[in-house]
Amino acid sequence: MAIEKEDLHSLEDFMGEVELTELHTHIGFGISPTMLWEIAHDQGILLPTKNYWDFVEMVTIHETKTYEEYLKLYDWTEKIQSSPESLFLGVQNMISGAYRKNNITKIELRFNPILRNRDREKDLDHLIVFSLQGMERAMLKYPVKAGMILMMDRRFTHDQNEAIIKKAIKYKSRGVIGIDLAGPIERTENARNFRPRDISDLVAEARKHGLGVTIHTGEATNVEEMWEVIDELKPDRIGHGIVSVQDPKLLKYLAKQKIVLETCPISNINTRLVKDFKELKQIYQTFKDNDVLFTINTDGPEMQLITLRKVFTRLYLEEVLTAEDLLNANEVAKHASFIKHV
Ligand SMILES: [Zn+2]
Repeated sequence: MAIEKEDLHSLEDFMGEVELTELHTHIGFGISPTMLWEIAHDQGILLPTKNYWDFVEMVTIHETKTYEEYLKLYDWTEKIQSSPESLFLGVQNMISGAYRKNNITKIELRFNPILRNRDREKDLDHLIVFSLQGMERAMLKYPVKAGMILMMDRRFTHDQNEAIIKKAIKYKSRGVIGIDLAGPIERTENARNFRPRDISDLVAEARKHGLGVTIHTGEATNVEEMWEVIDELKPDRIGHGIVSVQDPKLLKYLAKQKIVLETCPISNINTRLVKDFKELKQIYQTFKDNDVLFTINTDGPEMQLITLRKVFTRLYLEEVLTAEDLLNANEVAKHASFIKHV
């Protein structure tokens, strides 16, 4: 079973009024089922069910899944978010909700615009600008600092990933703060053949223009890939990176280079990459023993049926991390953020 959100103690038990920072949250995992349902109907999207509750099950991880099955949940959320208007509404709602429910005052969101262009029917500039306007609108309403990360995908051709990087550079002064790479590792031939070095020219170009670099690796991929990412792409931060606990040399290198890990612990349990809280505790203990910098994130609160504050609370109650560790991780996140304009 997935983590039950109801069995947590009162949120006031832990952290009180601490302002949180979230660095790793996907728009594809972060917009509430209610809003997705409303947007889908407003746009006349034909859904496979007319029952709202069946739909909620379709777009949330109500039971643990394998990593590849889990990424299939994205297919519907991406489809529904594939218009400028839905990105505007969704992003605004996501940032506003993060502040109201979690007191998150610094937040980085990420998405892949090409996966929302309905096979080139929608213009990428419109999708990006509307998402940035949703972000601006939320910042007008609440005291939140937000930034957008544009994502490449393992399934894409080099040309497609290059198009993403060009847009990230184009919108750098308007709210895009960094780039990322994600996507299934098994689903297509392109994904299976993907090597980090294939995009080293694109990542270097983004860095040259002052964009932050974070890369999904060491989540469902192995230590060898993590080394290649570090050697070839020189990321500032790594999405997940938990397999590094298997390699003492890699842990030392991460610490020395101050490469920050964006860990998403509940997501890792939901996708069966980590067995339980006991294993999580060992992972974080290894990071602490080796001075590896780590942050705590949701990966996408709505799909994971969790909030960032509840992730913190859960880790505290399960004695995975101490209050001091958690506050420290939040400080690391604040300083490692690509949001520099404030
Ligand atoms: Zn992620």
